[in-house]
Amino acid sequence: MNETVTIHIDGQAVTVPRGSTVLDAARKLGIAIPAMCFLEGHTAEPSCMVCQVKVDGEDRLRPSCATAAVDGMRIESETAEVHAARRTALELLLGDHLGDCVAPCSVACPVDLNIPLMIRRIRGGQPALAGAMARLCRDCGGRCEKTCRRAARDRPVAIRNLIRYAADIGEEPPPDDATTGGFSTHVGRVSPEEIDRYMVEANSIQRVKPADGAAYTDEEARREASRCMRCDCRAADDCKLREYGALYKAHTRKYKSSRRAFSQNRHPQGLIYEPGKCIVCGLCVQIAREAAEPLGLTFVGRGFNVRVGVPFDRPLADGLRKVAGACAEACPTGALVLEEDEA
Ligand code: SF4
Ligand code: SF4
Repeated sequence: MNETVTIHIDGQAVTVPRGSTVLDAARKLGIAIPAMCFLEGHTAEPSCMVCQVKVDGEDRLRPSCATAAVDGMRIESETAEVHAARRTALELLLGDHLGDCVAPCSVACPVDLNIPLMIRRIRGGQPALAGAMARLCRDCGGRCEKTCRRAARDRPVAIRNLIRYAADIGEEPPPDDATTGGFSTHVGRVSPEEIDRYMVEANSIQRVKPADGAAYTDEEARREASRCMRCDCRAADDCKLREYGALYKAHTRKYKSSRRAFSQNRHPQGLIYEPGKCIVCGLCVQIAREAAEPLGLTFVGRGFNVRVGVPFDRPLADGLRKVAGACAEACPTGALVLEEDEA
């Protein structure tokens, strides 16, 4: 039997070893089929359905990650029908998603300033870099502060004071990551209980006033910056859901289900799990299983409430003793991230 098969994708012929998938063949051709729940070197367990393609002669589209390449097969990967199916798959995932890619303060900013990142740079002792960002501010009157979630606890972060403080420092040009823009999902209004969970990231001190009544000292600026609850997403720059959502112009609210509550689990080694961002792709479950984690991860719940969890409701640290970092690396969204992935 011939050890290779030849198929056509979007009119281009490609020869691959027998047993390859259509996705393998497309990658060999350099055709970028989106895939979220498939990771090279792991078994395909299709769930996200964003890698769908049209097989000539068939009515239904198929997930390319789990479709074997058969000699003579003809595939279309870029038709309007295929794009619409991928968009729908993304919209279904987004309908059950809870997270802000971009924080409310940045969304409100007329120049899309990445305000949480600027604040972290002040807090982390990089005021010159923060200053290069702050000088983009057009002084719109403080739309940023009006949307700051911290107001639900006590008072908004004093973003305008922080911008004034930072803008006076250094002369560098703005860095590439100074602004956000683009696709974003939105959490919307949050409950007092959810604010308690967001506050894990923030210093609970009262809003800091400049002692001289005018401008922050370095120390005052750092203290005020520590009040930020960090409600932007740690994965915003490498999240596949965000990337493909933008690429296929997916609507974030088309299939919006009743909103789940914001929650966050923390692992002592710095892994953070946010169930609201999990698309139930199963990659982390598979990685933990392959690494023979004693407990590992599993799917818990039913129907739309299925999420990844540790068996017997044990803490994340018990489930992931060896491969916490590998799971964060593989996670296609911001559901599993490492705290050290900070700006
Ligand atoms: S996980 Fe992705 S889509 Fe969700 S908030 Fe983060 S960046 Fe946005
Ligand atoms: S936590 Fe991430 S890797 Fe694990 S199932 Fe959810 S989306 Fe997939």
